[in-house]
Amino acid sequence: MREFLATRTAVLDWLRTLGQQGDVFFPQPMGENSFNFDKVRKNSLLAFEDFDAGSKDKPFRASTCVQPPGKRLSPNNEQIFRFSKNGNGEYQLTPTLDERERILAGVRPCDLKAIHLMDRVNSDGIPDAHYLSRRQNTAIIAHDCLQPCDEHCFCDATDSLHWRQGADVFLTPQPEAQLLMEALTECGEQLLSAAGFPPCDDIEKRRALAEEKRAKPFGRHFDAPLQQVIDAVSNSWESPVWDKHVERCFACGTCNLVCPTCYCFDLQDDFNIGDPDSGQRTRSWDGCMLEEFAVVAGGHNFRPQLAARQRHRIKRKLAYLPARFGDGSFCVGCGRCGHQCTVDIDIFDIANDLLAATEAKP
Ligand code: SF4
Ligand code: SF4
Repeated sequence: MREFLATRTAVLDWLRTLGQQGDVFFPQPMGENSFNFDKVRKNSLLAFEDFDAGSKDKPFRASTCVQPPGKRLSPNNEQIFRFSKNGNGEYQLTPTLDERERILAGVRPCDLKAIHLMDRVNSDGIPDAHYLSRRQNTAIIAHDCLQPCDEHCFCDATDSLHWRQGADVFLTPQPEAQLLMEALTECGEQLLSAAGFPPCDDIEKRRALAEEKRAKPFGRHFDAPLQQVIDAVSNSWESPVWDKHVERCFACGTCNLVCPTCYCFDLQDDFNIGDPDSGQRTRSWDGCMLEEFAVVAGGHNFRPQLAARQRHRIKRKLAYLPARFGDGSFCVGCGRCGHQCTVDIDIFDIANDLLAATEAKP
């Protein structure tokens, strides 16, 4: 695979040009220090942070977008199929698959890892054709992080910081407002070759330059290695820690909705007005922190207590799914849940508390 070197401005111009030809998504500001992973349009405000971002005179850092890029692969209120009754009175189903080509650009390593995990989830058992159809038609241009996005980041603690798998192109910041562009797949190679960027012939030196600049330590770290955290969460069922953190929680479900590895959904059938024999099935995001999440037929709620719902959420990330897939933590340490929670409830703190409680046991 080949490597190229270009100025950040040239790369942004290239993304703008691609955005005129098809669907390209890139982090864009939507308020003070807040970003959204939005479609690139002619006048979109696009920027890469400086090589030495995070220093006092260059404070701009591309913070994690409120919604992770992977949500573009399983959008909210997605139509699954249309249905209608035929002449024999039988319902016929027409699946709705989104096969449009798209590019997700500026994807950070934590979100790249989350997409890898969602690829595994959606390919497991009965494959999710809707997710996979989008995924197969999506190219990913990832971007390295030399500084943590913000004080909530703990991507290094969850083995996400150096993630590369799933990217077609990988961008690494360089001095003098440049970007090292590495093609990691055939698709990436085609994209970069067509752009006509100049080749890079001192790749090892360039990688070393970036590594030298990377913050050390990078973001927050648990009080013990990741496997010990996973063991502590896996072995905690009855624990006062579950009650401690939910004292101030009001079950809004925001932590679920912003998480790149939350994928629960609800289904709804809507019948067409004027033609009750036809309609559509849609799925919308759901969240295990919401009170009615575990209500089943007959009205019984098998997880009515808030502490039980939070235990379920944390165990999904750091116990159940790691055990099922053997792929490490399903929390990628993006820090979104802690950042967006109005009352500062943070999975990082909960995990550390469970760790301390486990270690304190006689
Ligand atoms: S975002 Fe915070 S307040 Fe809302 S459900 Fe999650 S932990 Fe509770
Ligand atoms: S649990 Fe929180 S920190 Fe972990 S991946 Fe989800 S939003 Fe990010």
